[in-house]
Amino acid sequence: MIDEDTTALPVHGVPADAVLDEVRALRGRDRPTHGGRLFAYVYDPAVPGLDALTAAAHAESAHVNGLDPTAFPSLLAMENALVGAAARLLGGGPDTGAPDVVGSVTSGGTESLILAVKTARDAHPEIAAPRIVVPASAHAAFAKAGHYLRVAVDTVPVSATTLRPDPADVAAAIGPDTVLVACSAPSYAHGVVDPVEAIARVAAAAGVRCHVDACFGGWALPWLRRLGEPIPPFDFAVPGVTSISVDLHKYAYAPKGVSVLLHRDPALRAPQYFAYADWPGYTMVNPVIASTRSGGPIAAAYATLRHLGEDGYLRLAGATRDAVTGLADAVRETPGLRLMAEPESTVVCFTATDGGPDLFVLVDELAARGWHTQPQLAYADLPPSVHLTVTASVAPRVGEFAPDLAAAVAAAGAAGPVPLPGDLLALAGSLTPEALTPELVGGLAAGLGLGGVGGAPVPDRMAPVNTLLNAAPPAVRERLLVEFVALLQRPSW
Ligand SMILES: *Cc1c(COP(=O)(O)O)cnc(C)c1O
Repeated sequence: MIDEDTTALPVHGVPADAVLDEVRALRGRDRPTHGGRLFAYVYDPAVPGLDALTAAAHAESAHVNGLDPTAFPSLLAMENALVGAAARLLGGGPDTGAPDVVGSVTSGGTESLILAVKTARDAHPEIAAPRIVVPASAHAAFAKAGHYLRVAVDTVPVSATTLRPDPADVAAAIGPDTVLVACSAPSYAHGVVDPVEAIARVAAAAGVRCHVDACFGGWALPWLRRLGEPIPPFDFAVPGVTSISVDLHKYAYAPKGVSVLLHRDPALRAPQYFAYADWPGYTMVNPVIASTRSGGPIAAAYATLRHLGEDGYLRLAGATRDAVTGLADAVRETPGLRLMAEPESTVVCFTATDGGPDLFVLVDELAARGWHTQPQLAYADLPPSVHLTVTASVAPRVGEFAPDLAAAVAAAGAAGPVPLPGDLLALAGSLTPEALTPELVGGLAAGLGLGGVGGAPVPDRMAPVNTLLNAAPPAVRERLLVEFVALLQRPSW
């Protein structure tokens, strides 16, 4: 049956204001993107008027196509301005002696990283089976790049105490087929800055490119440094760093869909391009993965940077730093919790002490109190943890966090871990991905309240799901995630 109230293609078109009301009603079920209580997915500076400005700029350029910079010079100008601003912030720029940094605007961090890997791979056509070396803490997008591009990924472990790789291990992992070494500034999961200088040095010594993934913090660390924080060198000022990615839709506070990939010089960038003239249509030259590209996100990012300016970003970085300090203090003062690392950027990440609360239950208890945090599963010798991406909008909320955290810890302690049936946990721990049939997963999902027909697609409490995933090895987790999400992703009529 077609539901005329919700189908995307009604028999008769619906008036504009009614459609907008429908979208707003749908949005009402989402987590709050504003208000400083969502610690993942969104980056909110809480600057009055900024949303209206970026919406207008987005609308102005939404139908402009980045496919052809000669047809739409407005986009070329805005892209070059964004790349210039990023380069200037990260050790390039017009000053004599600065490297001749060039770059492109991409749709996000994942695209920037895929392109960094592709560019490094294609710089070495003579290497038949190329490989990259990344710390275990590197973003999952490197694994995705390797998967898409058939580039093998060699992972170097991180210390359970510093959460950083040992540069000697990175050096040892570099082989004749290595085309790229990567590190993070900072890592997403824990917010720690890798030893970029030492890693870039071993990469350069081996004649291998070195990418610094500053997708998360590349637009935060420079301001924190100007505010006096002890940020170690991580940008093009470091010899051996050949490319850097920085997401403008993170700490530059631009609407989604904008990242910048920078190369130290034009020759390093050259293999990034794809050009094609051997067909009867238009000649194609693409710097990035997409061909048709909306100008909307680029114009919105340009408007954001112009409006906030250096003084705006400095002020927002100060507010963010104060929020990080306040949240970290709240964690330190809460029995049963400990910080995974002393915060050195814009992340607060904590875990439970022995006898502390079950973290997955704690995450649900925090959500019930209006705080949306991100659970991270146990990995190698690292325990499960809770991740907080902190933005400027959190600053006015910090005082409300400590009492709610204490109450949530008490409630989680009283409730105890979720009682998943032992056989289910044993099953998860012992399964191989191949043993997971769609029927088995369907039964698991139904038992966990996921993807129920007619009901809410996702349960309020995620602790059972996280407990099950946490008990499984990564390959089984991956398979379960795919099956669960495939259950959610069904067409509606
Ligand atoms: C967010 C992030 C990415 C991926 O960026 P997307 O914009 O989500 O594609 C890569 N690396 C780090 C460190 C990140 O934080």
